[in-house]
Amino acid sequence: MNVKLVVLGGGESGTGAAVLGKKENFEVFLSDFGQIEKKYKQVLLHHEIEWEENGHSDARILQAELVVKSPGIPDTAPIVRQLNEAGIPVISEVEFASRFTDAQLVAITGSNGKTTTATLTNYLLDKGGLDVSLAGNIGDSFALDVANRTVKNYVLEVSSFQLDGIADFKPHIAVLTNITPDHLDRYDYQLENYVASKFRIAMNQSADDYFIYDADDPIIRKGMEVHPVRARLIPFSLERILEEGAYVKDENIIVNINNTQFIMPVATLNLQGKHNIKNAMAASTVATLVQIRKETIRACLENFQAVEHRLEKVLKINQVNYINDSKATNVNATFYALESMTSPTVWIVGGVDKGNDYSELLPLVNEKVKAIICLGLENDKIISAFGNVVDLMIEAHSMSDAVQVAYRLAKKGDTVLLSPACASFDLFENYEDRGKQFKEAVRNL
Ligand code: ADP
Repeated sequence: MNVKLVVLGGGESGTGAAVLGKKENFEVFLSDFGQIEKKYKQVLLHHEIEWEENGHSDARILQAELVVKSPGIPDTAPIVRQLNEAGIPVISEVEFASRFTDAQLVAITGSNGKTTTATLTNYLLDKGGLDVSLAGNIGDSFALDVANRTVKNYVLEVSSFQLDGIADFKPHIAVLTNITPDHLDRYDYQLENYVASKFRIAMNQSADDYFIYDADDPIIRKGMEVHPVRARLIPFSLERILEEGAYVKDENIIVNINNTQFIMPVATLNLQGKHNIKNAMAASTVATLVQIRKETIRACLENFQAVEHRLEKVLKINQVNYINDSKATNVNATFYALESMTSPTVWIVGGVDKGNDYSELLPLVNEKVKAIICLGLENDKIISAFGNVVDLMIEAHSMSDAVQVAYRLAKKGDTVLLSPACASFDLFENYEDRGKQFKEAVRNL
């Protein structure tokens, strides 16, 4: 008899898990409380996977022997509570997929920088000649990739929700980019619960694995006291020189591991901003650990372009640079965007506020921002936070409106930056839609 697998949620990761389950001879049933997108239905039909939408058949789901829960479904959902009460194992798609591959896993988590670091790491490993695939929270789900091909190495972008559902998931190399308060609604508004979730990335590691982390991050440092890590610790830092790990000295990035040293001038990094020096240090540490040639690492870091919607250079018009940082959906991401600005900035900000505290941005805004364009349905909080610091504050009601106002305000040598510090769903479908509308409006100028 085949094992009964129920997949909850029919999005990217749920559909991937269902396809992999089918391939591995589980009896698969996928259930979604809402509507399933057409493209995923086609995949399910193609693989002859049974599914339902717009509600859960509780009785059938409770007959499962194993459940894969999509990251969007909270533990408080009634069906998940029932499964937990019945003692039926509920795991995440990343856990499930990892059971069907022997590949070496590099797993990257953190509050910000996951996609950039994972994409860059994959690029380094790929150019270094390794058989590698990039998956997880980015592109194809890990499960779908495992179902479709066999590779020797994975670079995985892993969210805290995926980590909440792991049991045996054991990355050979784990990267923790940083921790700032995010998604607290899913963690009883307790930062320590969110921190605990992030540290699960290391919970199954052993002494011959590696844990790469930002040693400047006070929340990570404190977290390491509460959640001791068994893997070999490899820190990176912008603030101090380390005996082993990655750091900056005399304007050079230095990675010092296993008695080998990688050096490259910070100025030759193609990515902009302090945060990206950290992402580059984390990625080149991974590359050094898997013995990618130094020349290759250097050449890759000199070439690597920002991932779309992350401090992405769009166009230069009349000597004004237009930069799309639509992915900045929290204050910390915008902090680094503003910090990396080197000319007077017209800043487009706003959207759905996730309980933001803007005070940490005040000094940067004071120093760098000449005008603010508020682009949200509700802008009162932004107006009151920055009203005393910036003389020019204008409310816009659409992206094209915002970009045209920015165009009029920006003078030769200025920068127009979209870095909203907020979620996008008041005026846009998602951050990608917001970024695309920005780029289109800029191109139409
Ligand atoms: P994630 O996948 O964790 O959301 P991204 O690489 O997509 O991270 O970047 C999200 C946002 O955070 C972008 O605005 C980006 O410029 C910013 N960012 C990238 N790396 C870091 C970092 N190490 N620290 C803080 N912010 C960062």
